[in-house]
Amino acid sequence: MKSIKSKIVLFALIATLLPSAGLGLLTFWQNEALVNDGATRELHALTNNVSQLLETWLNENILAVRALAAANPVIEGLAISGQTKNSSDTEQAQSVMASYLLSVIGKLDNIVALAVFDLDRQMIASSVTMPKADAALQDWPQTALMSPTDANLPVSPADWEVYYAKSTFNIIFPVLSDDNTLKGYLAAALDSNALARQLRETRKFSLGEIILLDKTGHVFLSSAMQLDQTAALDPEIFSALRKPAAGSLVYDGLVYPLAIGLVSAYEKLPIFILVERDYAGVQIAWTKLRNRFLTLVVILIAMVTAFALYMGHAIVAPLEKLIAAARSIVDGKLDVHLQVHQRDELGQLAAMFNQMTDALRHKHAVIMAVNEDIREKNQLLQKLSVTDGLTGLYNRSKLDAILVDQLARFKRNNRPFCLLMIDIDYFKHINDELGHIMGDKILITVSTVLLKSIRAIDYAARYGGDEFMIVLTETDIGAAIKTAERIRMQTSALCREFEESPVKITLSVGIAQGQHSDMIPNDLIARADAALYEAKKAGRDQVQIYCDGSALSSS
Ligand code: GH3
Ligand code: MG
Repeated sequence: MKSIKSKIVLFALIATLLPSAGLGLLTFWQNEALVNDGATRELHALTNNVSQLLETWLNENILAVRALAAANPVIEGLAISGQTKNSSDTEQAQSVMASYLLSVIGKLDNIVALAVFDLDRQMIASSVTMPKADAALQDWPQTALMSPTDANLPVSPADWEVYYAKSTFNIIFPVLSDDNTLKGYLAAALDSNALARQLRETRKFSLGEIILLDKTGHVFLSSAMQLDQTAALDPEIFSALRKPAAGSLVYDGLVYPLAIGLVSAYEKLPIFILVERDYAGVQIAWTKLRNRFLTLVVILIAMVTAFALYMGHAIVAPLEKLIAAARSIVDGKLDVHLQVHQRDELGQLAAMFNQMTDALRHKHAVIMAVNEDIREKNQLLQKLSVTDGLTGLYNRSKLDAILVDQLARFKRNNRPFCLLMIDIDYFKHINDELGHIMGDKILITVSTVLLKSIRAIDYAARYGGDEFMIVLTETDIGAAIKTAERIRMQTSALCREFEESPVKITLSVGIAQGQHSDMIPNDLIARADAALYEAKKAGRDQVQIYCDGSALSSS
């Protein structure tokens, strides 16, 4: 049986859990989206900063190289080596240019190598002894070389330059004479480590790492020291991040195990700016919120459970008392009274229960009294139904029942019993002389004598008028005669002093013993009656026994 208390607790828990779980989920989803949006905005801002940084850095270097391309030693050197086939002049001009390049490179922090190319794109002077830039020159589009603009920057693809052991950009500018005729080209290898330093500076003021990737997704430069050019973004992630509407994505990061990041192409260079943040860090606020919420839910559930238990107890405890009281009443104990402490429905119920038990007790007492009365009356009725009204002895019908029982016993155990039939002699005459009332008193006196003369196991009955019967159980004829004689003599002795006026009262007694042939009480009664008749006939005041079809005197 599920108790009301557990049902209340279950209901309270469901009522708490369902809304809080629903609200919690909604809040989690919203917050997760908000947190991701916030992180994305910050990443966008960082990307913009990096773009500007790149722009500034690149412009500074382009300006420096452009100025070098317009420098006289370069223009003149190219003019001489282009005009004269005299190798000594050419060599001298080239050597002057190389010295010039060597002298300026010491002043330029971001440039690791400078080289001058003639119109045949052959390198004729360089700041390094074994320049590397000549091969790359073949790849430059002619338009870029002729007319460098912002949209068509003379910058070669980003490269990890093994030769310089540095990541570099190569910038190439046409060298024009005063009359704007093309004389050759000036190439510069830019040291991107300087840019990397600036990236790291920028990183200090932001939460994300900045990584410049080449078009294959390999790391070119990074604000994170642990990343080198061997690191590369997973191609699938790279292509997903490069999709125009990708925005920010959460992925297995280059710097962080799980990162949120976005990629934007820097349109002036063949590089991509990747900014990424530690997603665990982004989630901290969200996790804190979730933990706070869960703590709140746990506290709420504990409070609600405690309150529900209290409520359940407040309802169930009085009910249990009511049940126990009702069970007492079912068991017949009506002296129950409930203490009424509450003013609510349960209090009303307890009060009504008390009223009900009061009424029940009262009615029960009345019923018990009536029952007792009926029982007493029944006892009286039963007594009256088997006794004679005047003498209190058993009546004739009871005598019949006694004899039926005695005959049955005798036939079972063969123990003898005797019937004494007693009649007052000349009672009619006594009645006539002393009056009927005195006759009654004599009848009562004789009855008293009879009762005193027999044992507890014997029976005395009034058969009718002045006739009495005595059943002597477990008694043979000899003992019966003795009893009959004792009764006869006691009666005559008693009645001599009766009521201070001596009256002579004698009894005639006929005795018969129960026999196996007796089928009904009357068989035995008839024999006792015959013996009595003989006693009367023989002169009264004597005892006769019935024996073998005739009565015999007891004397
Ligand atoms: P016998 O010696 O032959 O027995 O003579 P008897 O006069 O006793 O005659 P019997 O036994 O026939 O008469 C019984 C009388 O008892 C008749 C009746 O008036 C009287 N009697 C019967 N019942 C009552 C009674 O309840 N009260 C009184 N006072 N007398 C009764
Ligand atoms: Mg008589």
